[in-house]
Amino acid sequence: MNIESIWTRFLNDIKRRVSSLSFNTWFKDSRLALLNEEHVIIIVPTIAHKKHLAESYIDIISEIFNEITGTNFNIEFLLENEFIKNNTVEKVKEEKEEEIGVPFNSPEKANLNPDYTFENFIVGESNRFAQATALAVAENPGKMYNPLFIYGNSGLGKTHLMQSIGNYIIQNTNKRVLYVTSDQFINDFLGLNKRDKEGTNFDYVDLFKDKYRNIDVLIIDDIQFLGNAPKTQNEFFHTFNTLYDDKKQIIISSDSSPDDLKHLEDRLRTRFNWGLKVNIFPPDNELRKEILRKKMANMDFSSHMSEDAIEYIANMCHSDVRSLEGALTRVCAYSTIFFEEEITLDLAIEALKGTITSSTNFKNDIQKIQRVVAEYYNVSVDDLKSKKRVATIAFPRQIAIYLSRNLTDESFPRIGMEFGGRDHSTVIHSCDKIANEIKSNKQLEKIIEEIKKKLE
Ligand code: ADP
Ligand code: MG
Repeated sequence: MNIESIWTRFLNDIKRRVSSLSFNTWFKDSRLALLNEEHVIIIVPTIAHKKHLAESYIDIISEIFNEITGTNFNIEFLLENEFIKNNTVEKVKEEKEEEIGVPFNSPEKANLNPDYTFENFIVGESNRFAQATALAVAENPGKMYNPLFIYGNSGLGKTHLMQSIGNYIIQNTNKRVLYVTSDQFINDFLGLNKRDKEGTNFDYVDLFKDKYRNIDVLIIDDIQFLGNAPKTQNEFFHTFNTLYDDKKQIIISSDSSPDDLKHLEDRLRTRFNWGLKVNIFPPDNELRKEILRKKMANMDFSSHMSEDAIEYIANMCHSDVRSLEGALTRVCAYSTIFFEEEITLDLAIEALKGTITSSTNFKNDIQKIQRVVAEYYNVSVDDLKSKKRVATIAFPRQIAIYLSRNLTDESFPRIGMEFGGRDHSTVIHSCDKIANEIKSNKQLEKIIEEIKKKLE
């Protein structure tokens, strides 16, 4: 059925349902201008028609359209000149939207990666609070914590978590979500400035505002980079205020807490403190192992990984999840290349050789300390981790524990774990014992210095 025949049928039907006076007054001189999936536009002669039809006849009109087509439409009444203007505006807007990317209710339009979800975000002690608040915001955007400010070092899952919020909202509501990095925000803003000089940016300004203010959820990642862009900060300040006043949800991430963002204007920092700040910490050993196991399982990878290989990788990459993922990918690739069925400790060591040594974290890693001390005393690393109490092993073990405590940032419990699962009080005892002994024993002091040199 084309538009004309639908309209003819419509007129016939309505004629039978209203008085001829009404028909002649309200319908005879109108026409159907547009009918698409959900939208109907009827052109009417005067503003009085527009008002009266919308107020008094809308139900019967909808009903008849539904009878004819089986669809419920959004019905709009426009004057001829409004329609023409609207149509051209629509067109121009569509083209521009293409350019700047107005957010919408889909991952691509919202600039979201659909792979970042709550389902595949693995929770441990270090990120439990951040994950819980993120889900609370996702379930109740704009109400609970506004803004939500997530901060922590690089590679700890901030982007993953923020995008999970966005994906959740898109899946469960029809709210408009927009995810941008602060770089993208700066670029959009600079585009706006550039056009200013050409004198042709009027539409662009509107579009920029439309993009950033006509949304329900704004997710802005790595806000620290706004520090280099004072003018953009000003624009962001206004964007923030508009959204905040409209009770729209704002989610921000950064590498440090708002108070430490010294390059940002005070008024922004103050606002970031209005809502809730959550810190993501580096993953602990348990979480690292859990992440390795779950990621292995999800990879649909046939090789099995031995527990000591998991332990090894987890210990190698202790500062963030990104490097952990990198190491896992490398180990898996290595096992594929060499057709290994089982990822053993040896294979993991071999695959990661040279990759992690370069990272600063590894400089004085516990494993390295164990190797160097073992070599120095001519015992094995396994001896250091064992329960053996003979002095020739127990003493080097205490030295290795002491050095681990003094040369790394590791906690007593973690050091205990690295030395065969010893209790943290044992670790403290070893540290105290060696520290005391050094004071009176020049020989020991010299030995410690020598070992430290080997560790450099
Ligand atoms: P950040 O934004 O804090 O620098 P990302 O969110 O980019 O960190 O995380 C780095 C990588 O680690 C991503 O691939 C992410 O999926 C993964 N990741 C981080 N934390 C977790 C987690 N708890 N569970 C699963 N994957 C994680
Ligand atoms: Mg990130």
